[in-house]
Amino acid sequence: MNEHESESGGAIFPLAKEPSLARLREQAEVLEEIHGELRAQEEILKHIHSSVIVMDPDGFITRWNLGAERMFGYTSDEAIGRNILFLYVEDGDEGGAEAASFGDSLLDESHREMEVRRRRKSGEEFWASLQISVIRDAEGTTTGLIGYLSDITERVKAREALELHARIFENSEEGIMITDAKLRIVSVNGAFCRIIGYTANDVIGQSPKLFQSGRHDAAFYTEMWRQINAFGNWRGEVWNKRKTGNLFPMASSISAVRNAAGVVTHYFAIFSDITERKQTDERIHHLAYYDALTGLPNRTLFFKLTTQALAAAERNHVHGAVLFIDLNRFKPINDTLGHGIGDRLLQQIGARLRTALRDEDIVARLGGDEFVIALFDLPQDNHAALVADKILAALDLPFQIEEHELTLGAAIGISVYPEDGTDAETLVRLADIAMYRAKHSTNDSYAFYSREMNKKALERLNIENGLRHALEQNQLVLYYQPKVDIASGLITGAEALVRWQHPERGMVPPGDFIPVAEESGLIVQIGTWVLEAACIQAAAWAAADLPPIKVAINLTAREFDPALTQRVQAVLERHNLPASWLELEITESMLTHSTEAVIHMMDELHHLGVTLALDDFGTGFSSLSYLKRFPIDTLKIDRSFIIGIPTDTDDCAIAGAIVSMSKQLKHRVIAEGVETLEQLDHLRNIGCDEIQGYLFSPPVPAAKFEVMLREGKRLPLPVL
Ligand code: C2E
Ligand code: MG
Ligand code: MG
Repeated sequence: MNEHESESGGAIFPLAKEPSLARLREQAEVLEEIHGELRAQEEILKHIHSSVIVMDPDGFITRWNLGAERMFGYTSDEAIGRNILFLYVEDGDEGGAEAASFGDSLLDESHREMEVRRRRKSGEEFWASLQISVIRDAEGTTTGLIGYLSDITERVKAREALELHARIFENSEEGIMITDAKLRIVSVNGAFCRIIGYTANDVIGQSPKLFQSGRHDAAFYTEMWRQINAFGNWRGEVWNKRKTGNLFPMASSISAVRNAAGVVTHYFAIFSDITERKQTDERIHHLAYYDALTGLPNRTLFFKLTTQALAAAERNHVHGAVLFIDLNRFKPINDTLGHGIGDRLLQQIGARLRTALRDEDIVARLGGDEFVIALFDLPQDNHAALVADKILAALDLPFQIEEHELTLGAAIGISVYPEDGTDAETLVRLADIAMYRAKHSTNDSYAFYSREMNKKALERLNIENGLRHALEQNQLVLYYQPKVDIASGLITGAEALVRWQHPERGMVPPGDFIPVAEESGLIVQIGTWVLEAACIQAAAWAAADLPPIKVAINLTAREFDPALTQRVQAVLERHNLPASWLELEITESMLTHSTEAVIHMMDELHHLGVTLALDDFGTGFSSLSYLKRFPIDTLKIDRSFIIGIPTDTDDCAIAGAIVSMSKQLKHRVIAEGVETLEQLDHLRNIGCDEIQGYLFSPPVPAAKFEVMLREGKRLPLPVL
């Protein structure tokens, strides 16, 4: 400026020369131009939004624009001339920094930027970004400072919030995982890494599928995503997999993050490991529902489970029973040997009961020495008696506790669903009453609540006990019922039917004892005896040169096992009987299980030369295609279809259908229970091969059958 001034000064005011008008005008224009520029600058300064403050090197304000006025609330009159320090919050760090600008450091830099705290006229403090520039003259001497300030309170707040969020994210106790919209993990926190066992580096860029446990089906995830998409959030419990491979439950909340346009940009999941909580829940559940001593369900759970099972039993129309068990000698043992031994005894009893029963049976300890059992899906109502027997036998064996060998004995009361009651309370109450009856009759026994059932059970027990003697004392005997060929009228064979010559009851029919023998397992011995006795008899007839016939024996499902072929072969060899003399009668029910194994067995028997007949045919569910697969020789039409012949059209139709089906399958067909000539005529007309029944002969002792065979007894001729 000085330079310019001196130069122009010389030019504007030349000595001894009249200034020309033109020059004056020129000078005025220059001045005007300068002023214009200054005004423009002034205007610009005014309108600059940020505050611009000009100071002298000591910090005294020389200029103060509108922005500064707006920012601080002081007018330029109030501000100009004061030291900049009056705007400072206090002599804090930033203030010091700015103050230092006036010192040496800034002088070398000429420009500096910083964030500072300032105070408005109102007293309010705020954050500002400050840029300071140094004004120098031509010699480089500092003539002033310009400070530009802009309010950054919002920005600082946002940044602080961000930092706060980041700290919360990182320090949260809950695991946090953020993915992008394509479900690639973009961020996880420390808790996440601790819980799941992966580091952030392991998982970033991966899919959260990495943690799937495999414990949820596709429907679970579909529903989860449906909720996230529909409501923006899903909460629930989910099993995940740690890096170690072990699975754990977590409480999880998954949310979608949308931008202003509503488009999903991210998903985040917040979760916590609830393994411990689950374990605690389970412990609490166990304490509430299980007996702490034996680990069996307690009274509460017993009633709950039984009520559920009763509802299912009602739907499925099955029988059920409740067994109330009272231990005979528990109290004296507990009193004399102490509670420690008593407790261990109860534990062993609980374990024995549990192992004696099927998984689906309910066993509970109601308290003290009272145990209760609920059984459902019983094939027959008296089946509960078998279970009672089994339990009495299990509790009969001595218990070993330390040096003591303890025998207990028990009484069991049984109530039956639905006959005695239909709810758990009633059934338990009645079983309890029945238990007292059992206790007072004899030791170690059971009793049904209903007299009817008691009678049946007693009867069964008598039969079972008697049958054991029957085998030992040779009380069983075989009767033979002839089978006759319709065309020739001649005897083709005999069905061996077992009888029990009871010393008091007289001749007991098989229907009264075969089912008991089946339930008690005695059928195995009985069946063995029948096979042996029938083969001995047949061998005797063969040796006596009687016309060759087939002697048929009946088998129950239990006897029809893989060892049968060998047993049959051994018996045939032992008695030197040609296999063609033996026929086995089986029922349809034996063909419904494990078909391949059954076919294999039947093939083996067939291979031996033994023939197979399908007994009581028509009462099961055999279909034509099914039958084709079995190597069967003869179908026996069940007696129930013969009774109505020839008047009942349904019976006639069924018999007719069975006969024509047998022809197609190339089986022989025999009608059982034929009692009249009309039945015989009808059967002959529809093409039936053989008959068996009272019309020709009832089952008779072997000697009587032998006479018929020797004398060549024939069927009556057709009625013309
Ligand atoms: P099943 O094999 O169907 O035997 C035919 C039953 O019908 C025999 O009864 C026989 O006496 C009877 N019956 C024969 N003809 C007539 C008739 O014209 N009218 C009437 N009303 N009945 C007739 P049973 O001997 O009482 O045998 C009953 C069932 O007991 C047999 O039925 C068979 O399933 C079983 N069974 C008999 N003996 C044995 C055996 O030794 N072992 C096995 N496992 N079961 C046997
Ligand atoms: Mg039979
Ligand atoms: Mg039959």
